[in-house]
This record gives sequence, structure tokens and C-alpha cells, in this order.
Amino acid sequence: MALIVQKYGGTSVGTIERILAVAEKVKRHRDQGNQVVVVVSAMSGETNRLIALASEIDETNDPREMDMLVSTGEQVTIALLSMALQKLGCPARSYTGGQVHILTDSAYSKARIRDIDGARVKADLEAGRVVVIAGFQGIDEHGHITTLGRGGSDTTAVAMAAALKADECQIYTDVDGVYTTDPRVEPKARRLERITFEEMLEMASLGSKVLQIRSVEFAGKYNVPLRVLSSFEEGEGTLITFEDERMEQAKISGIAFNRDEAKLTIRGVPDQPGVAFKILGPISDQNIEVDMIVQNIAADTSTTDFTFTVNRGDFKRAKAILENTAQELNAQEALADDKIVKISLVGVGMRSHAGIASTMFEALAKEGINIRMISTSEIKISVVVDEKYLELGVRTLHEAFNLEEAS
Ligand code: ASP
Ligand code: MG
Repeated sequence: MALIVQKYGGTSVGTIERILAVAEKVKRHRDQGNQVVVVVSAMSGETNRLIALASEIDETNDPREMDMLVSTGEQVTIALLSMALQKLGCPARSYTGGQVHILTDSAYSKARIRDIDGARVKADLEAGRVVVIAGFQGIDEHGHITTLGRGGSDTTAVAMAAALKADECQIYTDVDGVYTTDPRVEPKARRLERITFEEMLEMASLGSKVLQIRSVEFAGKYNVPLRVLSSFEEGEGTLITFEDERMEQAKISGIAFNRDEAKLTIRGVPDQPGVAFKILGPISDQNIEVDMIVQNIAADTSTTDFTFTVNRGDFKRAKAILENTAQELNAQEALADDKIVKISLVGVGMRSHAGIASTMFEALAKEGINIRMISTSEIKISVVVDEKYLELGVRTLHEAFNLEEAS
């Protein structure tokens, strides 16, 4: 007998018909002899609808009341799903986050889970019930309702699985797993059977928005095997887990990309201690996140060039700040480009295989794609290229590393 935590997202519980289908699925798992805990999101569109209602009152509202409001979406689905299960003859009971002591800090709309008391859930499981828990919500030490950030039900599920020491946490969604890259860009993209927590974090933060990033961090930290599967089709999905020998054989697991990038350069700044701080200090003071940073060796030895990337949404602000800094530092010029993208190869196998970077650069060169910036980490190589090369770049690399074939 296994203990599994299953999470169904908004589209999977978007209508009564779909809730009934989820109930059938849950019941099947239970009838196979498993203990099943189900975490659900609000019906699709519901959280947005609630936020829109509040914005009719005021542009920004009391954060406590916002969490009180948006947490109601999940309370609807837990009750409906329990009813659907009971109708199928499957004993079930629903709980809000607070009722099962999902204790969080008090940071409304982005609360972090501190502790979960699994005793009540365990007692229900022992009594043969399926336990249905509202995702996305918790309660702080003063009894106020909090929420975990958009997409937070994934994190509820993983945290619940960790607290209960579940055998697996299954995230049912509208895609059937994690792919080598976005199939909308490369139709030959292949579903991965397995991927490591580390790789998944790189893939998620680079734009494969399958899971809330925090849930992957949590799963990695507490060793919760995490599986992403489709709620509409049968299949094995993708298991997110530890590195094993099988994974090391594959050099590259996937290609992530981010269209949401912009690049800023300051040229001809004095090459002396403190310059990087003078350039980036004012940027971070404005809470603008910087991703890649490159400092060049300039032609003459007294000055240097400095380039960094930011989110496209922060581009205009960052540009204004940099222009100001350029004047203060007497720099030659400030340049800005928001027509760039980042493409990254991700794979734990990189650690033990040489020559990945040169294969990457060679493949891009053959297509005449100019690389504007490069950065590397232990399991990732990223390049910045012009926006118009995104699709071509991703497909070229997918081909160059044979990602359509399982290794
Ligand atoms: N209902 C929340 C949202 O739409 C949480 C979730 O679905 O995971 O973000
Ligand atoms: Mg989601």
C-alpha cells in the first residue's frame, strides 16, 4: 500500500463534469489499495475572477482581505470533489488549509509554509477516507488566512507529501509531462521520463511553466518524488527525482528559453575598484533583478565595458538609471537592447561530458546565429541571441543534441 498525494489544477476541476472525472480517477487509485490525499486548485478562471471583483472596489486592497477573498476559490472545489467522491461510494472529507494546520508566515499573497501537522489527515486515511485539501492557502500563527502565491497549490501538495512522508506527489495538469523543450517551438520535443530537481529548477525558472518553482525547491529539499502527469490522458508523465546513473548518460536533458529578457551595456567606464557596484547598485536599489553580467577587457587598459540583462518589464526603468550612471561616471555611452532572448541548455550530464559548449556554439554558427552573451553554470549553458533567432536557435540545438531520441 502506498500513500500518494495528488494535485489537480484549475483546468482539471474547471467544470462539474471534470470534477466527476477527477473523482473517478481518485477512487480508482484508492480501490487499488492506496491511501490518497487530494489537493485541488480553484476552478479555472476563478482566482482571476475574484481578483477582478476586488479591483472594482479599489486598485489595491488590504492584503489580509485579498487572501480571505482569493482563498475561497479552493474551498468550493474541495467540497464539490468530496461530494463527487461520496456519490461514487468513496468515503471522503474536505479540509481548508487552516483545518489541517498548514501554518505559514504572515506574508499575505506570498506566504511560506512553516509547518504542517499531518495527524488529522493521517487519522482520516487510517479510517479509509480520501482526504481532500484546499491548495494555495494556509493560516498564520494569529489565525489569519494566508495564500502561497499564484500557482501555490503545487506547493501545498508537495508540502503535504513531505509532512505525510508520502511515496509520491503527483501533479495532474493539462500537459502530460515535462518536455525537452516547448513543443510549440519545436514539435519534435519529447516527453522526459525523468528529470532531476536541479534540472527542473533551471527549466522552470527559464520559462517552462509547468510547476510553481517553489514546489520544486520544496520537493528537492525534502526528497519528495514528484510526478507531473496529464489529468486527461493516461500515461507515466515525468518523474522529478534525484540524479541517478541513467541520467548521467544523457548529456543534455532539455532546452529552456526566456523571451522576457533585455540587455544593457555601458561602454568606456573607468576600470577601477567599485565600478561594478556603482553601475549595479542603483539598479538593485530599485528592486530590479539582474540576470547575466559580463565585464569586458577593453582595448585600452584604463576603461572597460559592462553588460547585463534584466527582465523586459524592467527595461525602461533600468535604461533610465543606466543613462544617469553613464553621465556620473563619464562613460563613453549607454546602450540598450530589448530585442533579445536567452536560450539555455540544461543537463546534469554536462558535469561529466566535455565539449558541450563547443557543440552548441558550432551548431548556432552554422545557422548564422550570432551569440551576444554567454554564461555557464555547472549544469547549464546560456546564450543571449537576437529575438528573431529564438525558434531557429531552439530547433537547431534540439537537433544538434539529438533530443528527439531517448538516450
Ligand atoms: N488558484 C490559485 C491560482 O490560480 C492557486 C493555484 O491554482 O495553484 O493561482
Ligand atoms: Mg498551476
